[in-house]
Amino acid sequence: MPSKIPRPLSPRHTRLSEDDNSESKPSSNAFAVLMSSHKENDAWKEATVAEDRNFRPTKQNGGRRKAPFYKVLQGMPIAIDAFRYGTIPGVAAYFLTHAHSDHYTNLSSNWKSGPIYCSEGTANLIIHMLDVDPKWVHSLPLDVPSVIPNTGGVQVTPIEANHCPGSCLFLFEGPQTVNAGDSVYKSPYIGSSRTFRYLHCGDFRASPKHILHPAVKDKRIDHVYLDTTYLDPKYCFPPQPLVISACAELARRIVSGRSVSGQEAHLKGQSRTMTSWLMSQDKAITSSTVEVDASAKVLVVVGTYSIGKERIVKAIAHALNSKVYCDKRKAAILRCQSDPELDALLTSNPLDAVVHVVPLSVITSDRIKEYVDRFKGHFDRAVGFRPTGWTFTQPNGSDTLPSISTILAKSRQRQFTYANLSPTRNSTSTYQLYGVPYSEHSSFFELTCFALSFNWGKMIATVNVGSERSRGRMRRWVEAWEKEKKARLKDAIIPYRTPDYW
Ligand SMILES: [Zn+2]
Repeated sequence: MPSKIPRPLSPRHTRLSEDDNSESKPSSNAFAVLMSSHKENDAWKEATVAEDRNFRPTKQNGGRRKAPFYKVLQGMPIAIDAFRYGTIPGVAAYFLTHAHSDHYTNLSSNWKSGPIYCSEGTANLIIHMLDVDPKWVHSLPLDVPSVIPNTGGVQVTPIEANHCPGSCLFLFEGPQTVNAGDSVYKSPYIGSSRTFRYLHCGDFRASPKHILHPAVKDKRIDHVYLDTTYLDPKYCFPPQPLVISACAELARRIVSGRSVSGQEAHLKGQSRTMTSWLMSQDKAITSSTVEVDASAKVLVVVGTYSIGKERIVKAIAHALNSKVYCDKRKAAILRCQSDPELDALLTSNPLDAVVHVVPLSVITSDRIKEYVDRFKGHFDRAVGFRPTGWTFTQPNGSDTLPSISTILAKSRQRQFTYANLSPTRNSTSTYQLYGVPYSEHSSFFELTCFALSFNWGKMIATVNVGSERSRGRMRRWVEAWEKEKKARLKDAIIPYRTPDYW
């Protein structure tokens, strides 16, 4: 088992030093000095060189890639999701936000560059999947600050990220003591008595809960390292909890043989409706009310990556009162997540469960048939769910450059029910496949609500930063948020529907 980090702080330690009055300062923007105008662009250019695809380790380049500036916290000996750069000069603590491969690149049983800090679920996963020596791995308790050894007194609070199991945001608080890392840009704040706060979002799906968290609420955050995967208004997919309920309800209706004709009304105006799709199938359906053959035993198959999307699986299993089956390899990974609810659902007998978890690639018309054929005599039909953020397409005529107020007004109304799920074109009456607009990254709307809801100095993009064009596009949105925040005069949280989503 991973070793525990020493001592979560007692509440009396959670107060910051007296000289920290940065909350009240409108813009004591540390990064503005380091990264203003052309310097910022130069730093990104330096980062682009560091990420060069053709990089080969040689004696001249020190045998390792240089870590870009945004992988090492300004003034602190702390690196985040930076394992591909090996031993980074001056870094005493290596953090991992979650166990997705693009975040732990190069982490393996050979790791010996320093202690790794992460959540308990992530610790279990990297030891199990990557064979990292447990002596390096320190799991951190969620929601409480812990002091990180050898960092000059920096403390960190991990906050659940609403991404994959074990994923977290890290809120760092402490002094600037050292220029660690490879960047030529140095901080002018080393040795100052100020406490700096950095929020690293890793990958996350922003929710009001993140803003309401005691470690974030009413605080001034100097730098936010933002998961900018969908920082583009074309990505305005519906709230996650609504999509999860929609999948569970659709599965329940299909498996119980109930009418799914309700889809017709909801889909009015869209080009294809569930009813029109069913009517075009080989079994001609003449009535507008569609009854599914209740005697046919239906298998529900959910496609997932190595970790992530478990919430859909659990919701469908509960709706069908079923166990969940997956192969041994996948089950071992699921058990790393320390999720008693999921553990209780798992079975090793495929015939014991009407919900099966399979690799995403199985949810195609050919592969699903092949899969269900293995259980001939037990299941006659299958419904396949393929959850991915990319299945959502914007309705025609959508505004590609909406104003912030338009974004807020439109998105807040969004609903999503089972009737919004329509089968893919190559579905048949025996194998129905559904693309599900489900993402474990924030939609553009959620990023906007998140950014407008708290007091921050600098947003630093961590995804899609490879080209100047893409960085420029993202910078314009960050500037639009800054302008909107100024116009609002104070940092009040954007009104939300539930603490789980805006
Ligand atoms: Zn991820």
